[in-house]
Parts: sequence; C-alpha cells; structure tokens
Amino acid sequence: MINGMVILVGAGPGNAGLLTLRGKEAIESADAVLYDRLVGPEILAMIPRTAEKIDVGKSAGRHAVPQSEINGLLLRLAREGKRVVRLKGGDPYLFGRGAEEIEAIINEGIPFEVVPGVTSAIAVPSFAGIPASHRDFASSVHIISAHKKGNQKPEIDYESLNRLNGTLIFLMGLEMLEAIAEGLMRAGIADCTPAAIVENGTYSYQRKAVSTLADIAPRARREAFQSPAVLIVGGVCALSENLDWFSRLPLFGINVVVTRPKGESMLSRRLRELGANVIDFPCIRAEPLPIHETVFAALPRYEWIVFTSPTGAELFFEALKARGLDIRSTHGAKFAAVGKKTAAAITARGIRVEYSPPVYNAKALADGLPAFGRRVLLFRAQDGAPELSSTLEARGFEVDDVAAYRTLRESECSREALGALARGADIVAFTSASTVRGFAGALTKPGRSVKKAVCIGEATAAEARKHGFNVVVSDEATIESMIECIIKANN
Ligand code: SAH
Repeated sequence: MINGMVILVGAGPGNAGLLTLRGKEAIESADAVLYDRLVGPEILAMIPRTAEKIDVGKSAGRHAVPQSEINGLLLRLAREGKRVVRLKGGDPYLFGRGAEEIEAIINEGIPFEVVPGVTSAIAVPSFAGIPASHRDFASSVHIISAHKKGNQKPEIDYESLNRLNGTLIFLMGLEMLEAIAEGLMRAGIADCTPAAIVENGTYSYQRKAVSTLADIAPRARREAFQSPAVLIVGGVCALSENLDWFSRLPLFGINVVVTRPKGESMLSRRLRELGANVIDFPCIRAEPLPIHETVFAALPRYEWIVFTSPTGAELFFEALKARGLDIRSTHGAKFAAVGKKTAAAITARGIRVEYSPPVYNAKALADGLPAFGRRVLLFRAQDGAPELSSTLEARGFEVDDVAAYRTLRESECSREALGALARGADIVAFTSASTVRGFAGALTKPGRSVKKAVCIGEATAAEARKHGFNVVVSDEATIESMIECIIKANN
C-alpha cells in the first residue's frame, strides 16, 4: 500500500526550544527530511538515523537546489510511499515559498499536513529584548520582505509604511539596509527613530546593534553584520536594553562541547538554560556484552551487588527480566551505587540503596563499602577502573567483576558538530575517561580544539591531560558541580 505524504514543518528561528511539539513529532517519525539552510543544528539532530536527510538550502559557495527540483523531490519521495518532512526556517508560509510547494503537492493529489512555526520576525526581536508591539509605541506590526530578485530591488512602499505608524520588521534586508533606511527617512520617518539589527537571533552567538534609523546601516557595516538578520524600526527598539534577558545569561556566547552519549541530555539542557551554545558531540555509546549464565545462577551467594553507572544498573535489571527472574533471585543482597543517577536507577525499581559513597567515584566506594558480608558482584563496564576490585580484594572482599557492557567510540560524529568545532570551542565537558578517549580519537589535534577541558573527577582529568588538554576538575563528581566549574572557568 502506498501511503506517502508530505508534512510541511516550520522549524522556528533556530533555537530548538522554539520548535513546536507537532513539528518534533513529525521529524521523529519521518522517512525523509528535506531542509533549508536556516534550520538549527539541534533540530537537524532530531532526524532519525534511518531517515534520508537532504540539504536543499544555500550554503557558502553552493547554490540552492532550484525550486522545481525541490518540488520534484517531494513528489518522488511521497510517491515511493514515504513520510516526507519538508523543514523550513521560521514559519513555512511566511516568505518561505511553503505555499508553492504545497500547491505542487495538491496538484498531484498527495496527502499533506502543515505545521506552523515560530517566525523569526517576532522571535528574533523578542530574544533581543524587543517586543513587536507595546501600547506606548506601536499598535500595529508590519513584516516586510526585502528580498532582491536578481538585480531587481524589491518594491517597498515607504510612504505607506510611514503612515502606518507601527513597528516595521524587515526580513532578508541586510543587503538592502542603506536603501531601506534612506527610503524610510525620505518618506518622512524621523532619522532619530530607534532601529535595531539582530543577527543569528535565538542562538547563543546572536549579535544585536541598537541605534537610530540614520545610523543603523553604517553601524551594521562597521560591525560586519551577516545574514541571517532581522531589521526592526520603531520605538519598541528602545526597550531592548531593559527587556533583554538572553544575552545576560551567565554562559551566553560560550561554546561548550558535550561528549555524553545521546539520550543523557541533562548536562546539555542545563547548559542551554544558562545561555551556552552547546555542541552535542556524543563520543561513546554502551554496547551490552553477553553475560555468562553462572552469574545468574550464583545470585543468591552475593551479599553486595555494586553498580558504578546507571547503564550497569539498567542492564542488570533487564538481564534478570530476560531470564524470567526478578529481584527475589538476589535473596538478601544489599545494593551499592556510585553516583546519584546510578542510585536513582536502583530506587526507581523499588529497591533501597544501602551504600553510596559521599564522593562519586569507584575508589571511594572501594574504600567505604561496609564490610558486612564478603561476596561482591560488580556489574559494570568492561573498561572500568581496575582499582575498584583490587582495593575491595585487599580489604578482604571476594569480588566477581562482571563486564556487563563496553563503551564504544561513537563512530557517527555529526557533520554539524565537527563544523561547529572547527569554528572554535571554549570548553569541552568530560564525564568519564572513555569520553576523553572518544573525543580525542575523533579529532586530529584534540588539545588545540578547545581552550579548556572541564572534567568530572581525577581519573577523567588524568586521561585528559594525557591528550594535551588544559584541564580543570570540578569540586564534586556531579553535573551541578561541573556546571559551576564551567561558569567559573569563564569568569
Ligand atoms: N519563514 C521564515 C523567513 C524566511 S526568509 C520565518 O518565518 O522566519 C529568511 C529571513 O528570515 C532571513 O533573511 C532573516 O531576515 C530572517 N531570519 C531567519 N532566521 C533568523 C535568525 N535566526 N536570526 C535572524 N534572522 C533570521
């Protein structure tokens, strides 16, 4: 059965937080995604690995795929029975040719859906502290395309714009800045009217210039503003300083590489909330290893079961389930965990954690594990620190060290991540020695690619030093402590 369709999705101005829920759902269920230049990298990262990913936008030195070809691609993929998502920056029906593409689809009788997006015309000024309207300044808002078609200047009716007395928002106006400012002034808008330009709005690396209508063009040239940028003209621009919150965030403008595996996004999310430009660069993933059945047969003999990572805990309980066993097979064993998240993975199953060292590392667990009972099952990564079992054994414990999984280097570092890194990063956050090895392995000069490496503990730091990183170690082995350390590293 052929049930292909096209979903036209507005991706918003770039910041992934501004994608709609329906937009995200559509992307995650797509068989093929065609996207433009202005779609944010974090949103592109949501495209399933199995989906075809087609870049049809303009990028430096390369021309955009012609409209007729895009229409042809959409039709072909939908006819093959695919769920095709057409992703466009901002709202797809605002200066985005979305309607033209949908018309072509309707003509062929292909089913479709349209998911509106947050337009850059409103969101970009907003992230720069500029409200589109304010009763004291403007009660109407006008969005104008300043797109040049070939050598032809756009027809902008400056006289009418002057009479409207509202906020004027120009998209695609960078090339035309001088002409727009001049046209507006000639039509009677005062040269001291507040005006602003915002480049790469809603991203942590956004820039803004707030000035007057007479000065905004020379200012933007002096400061080398680049596309994409929005030009705003009107009294509301004067509020920018007061209403700005984004550029005041503690990590605004700071590029932080996060090397944690996909799906463990707490660190990335917190960093983004604090304004950082997070470059997700997952370097490792866990691959479960086959476990000998004798381990499960021997479960009743253990007095301690120890996990050093949430992955270890999850895999243990999954392995029990797969064998038709449950927690009762462990008899009276007590559970110990390194780290809050590991402990949480245990308590989430209704099991008490009997011991968790105050400092979150394997060494602390080995030193502190109460000597109640002697037989210990360590269920952890193959490449875990050897000191854990040797220290326990030296203390008289009998340890079965089971390799439940191994950490593999993530082979697929996204092109976006490598590109972002090539532009320079301030900080890389390492949460384990294996992430250091994974990151170093993906780059030719790892130590030079970032200014500082913030490490979660001494073992991670030692590995990072080996690869030539300029290392800072967080006070505690927690995500919160790492974040504090990252903020401090930038002051
Ligand atoms: N459909 C889009 C607009 C497409 S036209 C929307 O609703 O936002 C492309 C123009 O949008 C760019 O030239 C620029 O003026 C503006 N734009 C889009 N994203 C932007 C961003 N992150 N920062 C500044 N301007 C942006």
